Amino acid sequence: MTDWDRVKRLLGQDTMDHLARQTVAVVGLGSGGGYVAVALAMTGVRKFVLVDDDILDAHNVVRHIADQRDVGRPKVAVVGDLIRHRNPEAEIQQIHGRIEDHFAVLDTVDMVVVGVDSEGSKFSLNEACLERHLTAVYAGVYERGEGGDVVTIYPYKGPCYACWASALREGNVSPSPDDADEDLDYGQLRADGTLAAEPGLWLDVVRVANTQASVTLNSLLAGTPARRDLPANTVILASQPLEILEGHLTPPFSAEWVDIARNPSCLVCGTLQTRQSEADISLDALLNETGEADTSQSVHKSGKQNHD
Ligand SMILES: [Zn+2]
Repeated sequence: MTDWDRVKRLLGQDTMDHLARQTVAVVGLGSGGGYVAVALAMTGVRKFVLVDDDILDAHNVVRHIADQRDVGRPKVAVVGDLIRHRNPEAEIQQIHGRIEDHFAVLDTVDMVVVGVDSEGSKFSLNEACLERHLTAVYAGVYERGEGGDVVTIYPYKGPCYACWASALREGNVSPSPDDADEDLDYGQLRADGTLAAEPGLWLDVVRVANTQASVTLNSLLAGTPARRDLPANTVILASQPLEILEGHLTPPFSAEWVDIARNPSCLVCGTLQTRQSEADISLDALLNETGEADTSQSVHKSGKQNHD
């Protein structure tokens, strides 16, 4: 039995019971997603759907929550074991494959953590989550780990991931799931000979992943006294001095919150919403009327993402 005393005294039994009832999908169990899954398990999340198609490779070990002992095993099995080693009562569905082939597993979850690197997979997940009215938390780590961002996408309340990416990602955004799928590993070469995954330290990845886990936890705590109001839908973290807001240098180890508005002409959430509201006029669809918040700050577009 896991001794939850130190967590229970902070959150209280009712909140822990609430967390234990939630099912969280973690899609992508690389350097970031693997960390998020284990961190959530250590706060009391008990039900997981883990999805990853990759094998733990020797070059992953310097940037992964698992180590040499698990090289050669599917990351989904490795991370599943790491969760069970913390909490033997965890209920884990492990999918060793691409999420694109297994969207049905999202039908039974309460929330989605997006740990994939490929923008193509993020766009596919965006549509799958919108269709199921699932809140999803996305994270991106910038080139050489110099910073990163975490955004929470509430279906039809504010931007979808496609809206968000069109505002914050420069040049590398493709709405087609097929042509942005460069899911190469750290250290491998692209066809043009450049490094597909940037060099970077796990501690810089984990700065972003830890925020992704905290933001996810906060969403899971909805309806409990432990839930905090967050200032905006996006937090951008600096590991190096970063010009996140124009004309202002954000110092290392600090962050800026920015609210990214829905793109009123977004075909992804616009079309899906129309389709859904024709089928049934849901409360969510009505609430989406407020989707156009004003983006008062000018955000420096990073557009550079780490592939892991
Ligand atoms: Zn959209």
